[in-house]
Amino acid sequence: MKTNVLVINCGSSSIKFQVVDPQSHNISVKGVAENIGSDRCCLAYGDNKELHPKASYQFLLEKIIDAIAPWINTLIAVGHRVVHGGEFFTCSVIIDDLVEEKIQNCSDLAPLHNPVNLLGIQVCKKHLPEIAHIAVFDTAFHTTMPKHAYIYPIDHDYYTNYKIRKYGFHGTSHRFVAQRAKQLYPNAKNLITAHLGNGCSISAIKNGSSIDTSMGLTPLEGLVMGTRSGDIDPSIVSYLSKKLSVPIDTIDEILNKKSGLLGLSKVSGDMRVLEEKALQKDLLATLAIDTFCYRLAKYIYSYHIPLGKIDGIVFTGGIGENSPYIREKVCDLLPHYDFDKAVNNSIPRGKEGNFGKNIILSVIPTNEELLIAQDAKALGANV
Ligand code: ADP
Repeated sequence: MKTNVLVINCGSSSIKFQVVDPQSHNISVKGVAENIGSDRCCLAYGDNKELHPKASYQFLLEKIIDAIAPWINTLIAVGHRVVHGGEFFTCSVIIDDLVEEKIQNCSDLAPLHNPVNLLGIQVCKKHLPEIAHIAVFDTAFHTTMPKHAYIYPIDHDYYTNYKIRKYGFHGTSHRFVAQRAKQLYPNAKNLITAHLGNGCSISAIKNGSSIDTSMGLTPLEGLVMGTRSGDIDPSIVSYLSKKLSVPIDTIDEILNKKSGLLGLSKVSGDMRVLEEKALQKDLLATLAIDTFCYRLAKYIYSYHIPLGKIDGIVFTGGIGENSPYIREKVCDLLPHYDFDKAVNNSIPRGKEGNFGKNIILSVIPTNEELLIAQDAKALGANV
């Protein structure tokens, strides 16, 4: 029986994969190749752990095809996560030559991701030519934003000529939790979804559609993240470039990899570490957490503008799902949102819960792979 989907997520230094049945949610096998390009590169799945120092993406993808060989005859489709769909893609699509060309055309906008996403597609298509391949885009869910929300207040020619605008990311996660929230709270029309992982973004959702989001042209804009700064005065880029006597590319790397929680705390971009440090009264860890929560609360409250009345906030991602401490600190900053601290503290890890009193304050674990598999099955079944 063909009921499974192979989900492939090629990241900037990792490849995650799983064979999953989108209906029963049963996972036959899942794994990850991490630290790609380094001596520590390792492929792990089931009970297997293989070291592949300096292995290429292509080599690892072929190893992954070998690893899923026992389930190849159960596959209906392959679902590929693609980071940037630009203005081309408003939903998931079956991948043909034209789709590949458009993904390639968006590589300028996501140079660390789209080329490896495309490589994943090409290697999998070569080895699994009989099966439909579906692209699921991080940006697609946010294509419903109105122009006044996605346009930047710079010369309009830069939008016309170079497509400089807000695209938004984490769309699969925002869509997954928004769909689940609709099942759990059918009367909640106006929602904020907060995806708080290593990368963090929030989205204003009206009747199931994204009408604003915090990430922008790239995933650097918006909230404070593990290693990304989020919003800063753009003048800092040229100012710091002069002060450090380094090119703008180096500043870009500093803002992406050495800022956010890591830059502020000087110890870690990992919230678990910072929570422990803050308990020990570490001043910079406390500052990092306070800044993270303050800026998140400000973003949440500002979404009264696109949404009017807010019916609920959904917390997801590693921090949103697992840290009652951060949820409490954020909600403490939000005026008029009443919540139950004991309920917040008692939501078990990986489970759903609602700790709001006069508003829905919900925890919904995200599952991007499942949504990719569901899209792939829906589109791939008829090919
Ligand atoms: P990614 O964005 O890479 O998918 P995750 O969604 O797994 O990342 O989120 C990673 C973040 O979640 C890290 O900052 C990690 O510290 C945080 N996190 C995970 N578990 C907890 C926890 N119990 N308490 C606080 N933070 C947590």
